[in-house]
Amino acid sequence: MTARILWTRCFSAIRGEAKIRRNLRNGKPLSADRDYPTPMNDAFEALGLCAELVAELNSLGYEEPTPIQSAAIPPFLAGKDLLGQAATGTGKTAAFALPLIHRVASTKPAPHKPLVLVLVPTRELAVQVSEAFHRYGRSLRLSVAPIYGGQDFYRQTVALKRGTHVVIATPGRVLDHMRRGTIDFSDIQSVVLDEADEMLDIGFAEDLELILEAIPKVRQTAYVVPRAHKVTALDLESPTLALIFCRTRIEVDELAERMVGRGYRVEVMHGGMTQNIRDRVIKKARAAALDLLIATDVAA
Ligand code: AMP
Repeated sequence: MTARILWTRCFSAIRGEAKIRRNLRNGKPLSADRDYPTPMNDAFEALGLCAELVAELNSLGYEEPTPIQSAAIPPFLAGKDLLGQAATGTGKTAAFALPLIHRVASTKPAPHKPLVLVLVPTRELAVQVSEAFHRYGRSLRLSVAPIYGGQDFYRQTVALKRGTHVVIATPGRVLDHMRRGTIDFSDIQSVVLDEADEMLDIGFAEDLELILEAIPKVRQTAYVVPRAHKVTALDLESPTLALIFCRTRIEVDELAERMVGRGYRVEVMHGGMTQNIRDRVIKKARAAALDLLIATDVAA
C-alpha cells in the first residue's frame, strides 16, 4: 500500500524516479529524506509546460504559479497575443519567459536570427530578464543574449552570430544592430515589450515603431503595461480587423469611444444586443469595413 501511494506520487517525477524504481524492484526500504524526490509541481505541469521546465522550477523551489503566471501561460503557449498588467515582484518575467522557452527551445536558431525578442527600457532590466531566461532554460540548453547600450558591440555581435534563441534588448541598441546588419528578424516568432509604459514614458515610441515595422507581421506579441497605458500600447500596434475583449459592457463602450477618437473604425458587441444587430456587425467585420470589434466575453 505504501509503495502504491509512493508510486502515484512519483509517477510524474523526473529526478530520482529511476532510483526509486530500482529500490522498489530490489525490495529496498525507502528513506523519506533521501529517496523521495521532491514532488513535481503539478500546478505548473497542468498549465502545459514541458517536463524540463517543471523540473527546473521545482529545483528553484517555486511551489505554485503566481496569478499572472496562471492567467498568462496557457494563452501564451497557444500562441495568442497578450497584453498583461502586473507589478514587479508578481512573477511577471516567468509568466512570459516560461511559455516562450517552451515554444522555441527545440528549434535551432540560425546565425544573427533570434527567435524571440524581448524589449526592455533599461540595461539593468535587460540583464535581469536575461538571467531569468538563462536560469529557466538551462536544462533545455537555451541560448540567451542581452543586448544593451554601453556594452562592447563586438561581444554582442559574436553572440548574435553564434545564433541565440532569445535576445533581450534596449530599443536604441537594437536599432544600432539593425543598421549594422548584425541582427535579422526574419525568424522572430514572439516579441515582448516588458515595462512598455516605461519605454513609452522614456520616449522610445519612435524606436519601438521602427523595430516593430522590421519584424514579420505573423508573430506573437505581449505588452506588459499597467492599465492606464493599455490604450497607448494598443494604438502602437495599429491593429486592423482585431477582436478586443473587455470584462464589462461599460469597459467596451469606454474603449470604443477612445479608439474612435484615435481614428479607428469601431463596432461594439455585447450580450444586450439583439441577434439582428450582432449579425450586422459580423457582416461588417467580414467585409473588412471596420478596424476593431470590441466585445464582452459574453458576446464572444
Ligand atoms: P518578477 O515579478 O518577474 O520581478 O519576479 C519576482 C521574483 O519572484 C523573482 O525573483 C522570481 O524568481 C520569483 N518567482 C517568480 N515566479 C515564482 C513562483 N511561481 N514561485 C516563487 N517565486 C517566483
